[in-house]
Amino acid sequence: MVKEMGLYDELGVKPDVTEAELKKAYRKLALKYHPDKNPEAGDKFKRIAFAYEVLTDPKKRQIYDQGGEKALKEGGGGEAHNPFDIFDMFFGGGGRGQRGPRKGKDVIHQIKVSLEDLYNGHTRRLALQKNVICKKCDGKGGKDGKELQKCSGCKGTGVKVRMQQIAPGFVQQSQMPCNECDGQGEKIDPKDRCSECQGKKVTRDRKILEVHIDKGMKDGQKILFNGEGDQEPGLEAGDVIIVLDEQPHETFVRKGHDLMMRMNILLVESLCGFQKTIKTLDGRTLLITSLPGQVIKYGDTKMIQNEGMPAYKNPLHKGSLIVQFVVEFPDAKQLTPQRIVALEKCLPPREEVIIPDDAEEANLEEYKESAQQRHAGRQFSQHQMYAMEEDDDEGDGRPQAVQCGTQ
Ligand SMILES: [Zn+2]
Ligand SMILES: [Zn+2]
Repeated sequence: MVKEMGLYDELGVKPDVTEAELKKAYRKLALKYHPDKNPEAGDKFKRIAFAYEVLTDPKKRQIYDQGGEKALKEGGGGEAHNPFDIFDMFFGGGGRGQRGPRKGKDVIHQIKVSLEDLYNGHTRRLALQKNVICKKCDGKGGKDGKELQKCSGCKGTGVKVRMQQIAPGFVQQSQMPCNECDGQGEKIDPKDRCSECQGKKVTRDRKILEVHIDKGMKDGQKILFNGEGDQEPGLEAGDVIIVLDEQPHETFVRKGHDLMMRMNILLVESLCGFQKTIKTLDGRTLLITSLPGQVIKYGDTKMIQNEGMPAYKNPLHKGSLIVQFVVEFPDAKQLTPQRIVALEKCLPPREEVIIPDDAEEANLEEYKESAQQRHAGRQFSQHQMYAMEEDDDEGDGRPQAVQCGTQ
């Protein structure tokens, strides 16, 4: 049990979250709330980074789970790193340090990809808006070779420092964008301005990128377009980084190179055999057979080799398709007294039960999980099922014992 949920809630995850889920949650939210994309979001970007930092560090996470944020602060682990450093580290952008040539901003873009795309490979055309150096003035910002001049109002810094006396002897310093140059640090006489870029030196341009999604690529994988980011005079152009966001599939769940699926079979099929088809991600149909008498029990798992995901850069090598069986029992209504008698004759005989004289009659009721049992974990599940569904809500029509176990 954890003491506080705050940092988990920040990322929208549960305390039993896996590292992969943490990464995915951070990726999604950090891109959404990055001040470049969402300047109104305030502290959210910072909080997400802090939550990610704590929860991915086993030591800090343990301290937090036991004592909450207060314990983190007391333990000295409560100081957050710069959220932008965490972001750069995660996305592999920026971070090239102050040593190399200064670069323009990277453009990070997440695209949704289906499991089919990742299985078969796919090329996606993506239209991006970016800043390019103005062709008319060659990035100078002025007409006829005229250049912008350093603003005298702010000495080129773009900000003005204002001193304000708030009480006798007390002066408060506040910074505000320079009003003479609009915070640009440079200005030009309006009549000398380049008509194409209005003195901004750059123009917005639409660029089509061809994103090649290779077979076997995975969720979170990055595709880099060197130098395709924003251009800025005097700087090396930034990169475009495309991040793949794998979408859940209705049949398959990917676990590394393997694909997993659940298959519902009837009790008669589990005992007397069956043939079933499976539609693969490249549209083929697989036929699987279970022979009569080859009893398949509830929760039994079988696999089909080479029908999993292709390996990245080695697509002929494939993982396995893992099938877990869910046996559907007949409805009580379908079992008429005659059928029960017939069934009894078919099935192996039951064992005789010896009832002692002092046996007490006890009532067998529907099982309802108490709050206490819920906290103690799902130790009551009779079958450990793979966690294949995002939400393990009860009442999805399956027997109670099929609560998903976490892997
Ligand atoms: Zn200025
Ligand atoms: Zn221009």
